[in-house]
Amino acid sequence: MGLKQAIIRTGLEALYFSGSHRWLRPFVGGVGAILTLHHVRPRRHDGFQPNRLREVTPRFLEAAIKTIRRSGIELVSLDEMHRRLSTGDFARRFACLTFDDGYRDTLRLAYPILRRHGVPFAIYIPTSFPDRLGELWWLALEAVIARKERIGLVIDDEDRRFDCRTVKEKQNLFDALYWWLRGRKTEEELRHVIRDLAARYGVELRAFCDELCMSWAEIAELAADPLVTIGAHTVNHCMLKKLGDEAARSEMRESAAVLEAALGTRPRHFCDPFGDPASAGPREFAIAGELGFKTAVTARPGVVFAEHREHLMALPRVSLDGEYQQRRFLRVLLSGAGTAVWNGFRRVDAA
Ligand SMILES: [Zn+2]
Repeated sequence: MGLKQAIIRTGLEALYFSGSHRWLRPFVGGVGAILTLHHVRPRRHDGFQPNRLREVTPRFLEAAIKTIRRSGIELVSLDEMHRRLSTGDFARRFACLTFDDGYRDTLRLAYPILRRHGVPFAIYIPTSFPDRLGELWWLALEAVIARKERIGLVIDDEDRRFDCRTVKEKQNLFDALYWWLRGRKTEEELRHVIRDLAARYGVELRAFCDELCMSWAEIAELAADPLVTIGAHTVNHCMLKKLGDEAARSEMRESAAVLEAALGTRPRHFCDPFGDPASAGPREFAIAGELGFKTAVTARPGVVFAEHREHLMALPRVSLDGEYQQRRFLRVLLSGAGTAVWNGFRRVDAA
């Protein structure tokens, strides 16, 4: 568990056991929440699963839906959320379920549950994934470290060697390299390192698309269901803030154009890849608005307040993934207390 996860988890536990999420709720609960999910699949048993914080089990998803509804919260589409925010219709609290990246398990494992319960949901597709040109570099990094006991890398012009024999060493090395890569100044630099690493250690960088992501035909199958909203998520799943103005705009504009060409409908909602303040900021929020999206979501943690009507291109989300996969945490997250503590009780974070 990373330090950040440990802090959040400890905080959530403290909030849960103190019961303070109940009395905090009127102050921090907002009008609703947008929930983030990635993979939905059965738990695997390998020791080294650094990307596990991006998955929940089908059972957890179903339990989450029931918990949300039992709490009197309505599960609504992004369009309906947009309508409520624009018109100030906050009679009932809402939650939107959003699935990032278009993994095949969204169709195979999540969709049957969502359909059975009549739950609207959104999927954000980076178009290079169904085009089979995408680089899911975080999975390539995991694969290299999983297969090897020692890897070499040039870091700051220095040849470095890293041992990764034990699960613990692998986990530590993944965390260090993942955040080092996320910290590169440009997306190009990150991609250059990962392509070189994948090539040297026999990992087929583009194979992850075929293995894990929906094809265009599978996406079209989902898109035909009125419960489903297909949203844009750039072409290449880049940290937009690290691109120049033209490149950032083109990633956003092209992804909408490609989705429209493939599915016949222009996507009205956008999601910033990675979505933390280092990946998306005011420039991206402005471009999303100029391109005519109705909403754009980030990964900045938080629930939605009426004030977000003025910040529809910088909406926060609450992560349902991974480390917090317990129903008692869900209640705290939905109360807004967890993310309010994280945000220092600031409501809107659009800077
Ligand atoms: Zn994504």
